[in-house]
Amino acid sequence: MDAVRVAREAKRQELLLQLAELMVEDQVEEGVFLETPHYSVIELAAMNLGHQLSRQAQQRAAREVAARCPAEANCPTCDAACVVQTQTRQVRSLSGPVEMTETVAHCRRCRRSFCLPSEAGKPSRCLPATSPRPWGRESDLQGRRWPTAGSEGSNRRLMERSASEA
Ligand SMILES: [Zn+2]
Repeated sequence: MDAVRVAREAKRQELLLQLAELMVEDQVEEGVFLETPHYSVIELAAMNLGHQLSRQAQQRAAREVAARCPAEANCPTCDAACVVQTQTRQVRSLSGPVEMTETVAHCRRCRRSFCLPSEAGKPSRCLPATSPRPWGRESDLQGRRWPTAGSEGSNRRLMERSASEA
């Protein structure tokens, strides 16, 4: 690890310790330790903390993906150049609801919207309203089934969303 990574790891450890400390401070205030708590009380609070961190990390990473998306994309149907815009919507992640930033372009000629980015610059399928991860290759999932993705697993390369849904 180079110096930058070492510093980042040290900072991560420090912040994790601080988060754990804050969780315990909350529990002390709530009187959790007035008697010896059942371990599940501690574990549930810790898992909740982890989910909060997960949601923040997902939101941040989604913004990063959106920020790296090109300003224009060609319509998958008519190949016209379309302006790419960002929007947010709430999706259900494994850690709970996430305010997801995503990039969508609208083709005036076809009166359709399509989602970005995706593999090899092709527009990707716009997933249903509550599904996360509307980009990337199927292999990124590494065999994991996403509970809200349902039957949307295959053929996600190309799908347009009608203007009425956009
Ligand atoms: Zn078009």
